[in-house]
Amino acid sequence: MAYDIEKVRAQRQQELNQIRQSPRASHVYIVMPDPPTPLCRKIQGTFPKDSDRIPELPHPACPNPRGCLCRYEPFVDEVGP
Ligand SMILES: [Zn+2]
Repeated sequence: MAYDIEKVRAQRQQELNQIRQSPRASHVYIVMPDPPTPLCRKIQGTFPKDSDRIPELPHPACPNPRGCLCRYEPFVDEVGP
């Protein structure tokens, strides 16, 4: 099946919004495919979930022939019960 970048972008945006709305998630981090492309590695990191520096996924310039496989994951602060 062809890689539909618009569809993937909509899906990633939805995931990011869900993380932003989650009261338990303080940060969002970028999960890399294995092995990550050099480009993916460059934007890897953890960002405050309201940061405007969160990279847009999928990266338009990702050289992965299967398309950019990076995902957003919630980062949950484990502070007590
Ligand atoms: Zn990527």
